[in-house]
Amino acid sequence: MSQEGGPKFRIIGNASGGARRRAEQEITDLLTQQKVDDLPSGWKEAIRESELPKTPEELSLIDLANQKINELMRIAGVSGFDVPANNFRILPASSYEKVTQEKESAGATALMFQVVALNADETRKGLMVFGCTVFHEMMHLKSHLTLQVEVDNEDGGVIKTPYREGLIIKPAQNTIARNKYHEHFRGLNDALVASLEKDFAQELLKLPFIQKGQSDLQDPEVAKIKEQASLVSGIPKDEIV
Ligand SMILES: [Zn+2]
Repeated sequence: MSQEGGPKFRIIGNASGGARRRAEQEITDLLTQQKVDDLPSGWKEAIRESELPKTPEELSLIDLANQKINELMRIAGVSGFDVPANNFRILPASSYEKVTQEKESAGATALMFQVVALNADETRKGLMVFGCTVFHEMMHLKSHLTLQVEVDNEDGGVIKTPYREGLIIKPAQNTIARNKYHEHFRGLNDALVASLEKDFAQELLKLPFIQKGQSDLQDPEVAKIKEQASLVSGIPKDEIV
């Protein structure tokens, strides 16, 4: 892996300079040297109880997505940075649903904690599905993040909330406090990620271990995997070799 410019987290809000720098250091540490202990309790439990080890093929797909997105970032004029494979946590569906509050999706990113949950029951249907899901979530993980850090008047600590996530505009803390939570551009953000995922899927199809994995399987299974891959990538079933 190539270490590049490093992530640029932006911090806004009225907390002291020291508190803002601490918040920046914490989020950087979560990205570069994530410890299970630093994650929220639900994640901690799920990971400790049921995280599944990654296969060599899965690790190489994570590395490939990491490199590919750094390349895209370079083209866009921003410096790339590496995301360790450790930040991707493969969980069985039951644990996945608990931490993400999502049913049947393949992956979910918690940008505030720089962690991705991968649903084993979905992503392990085939390496194509795994690769596309990793690329998609890695795109979210490498998106711009602005945190709002404010003094908590009740206990003197700080409150941290996301203010920008990629193209998503989140509400300021005083808006949330007035029970007026709203956000914009979630759909646009995901559409952009999905369109780049499609190009990545085409590249995956050229990889020998993906091709081999598909030809080794019995016909009905190949059909099922093609269907899954088509669903995730948007490439028509018949064009997947
Ligand atoms: Zn998404």
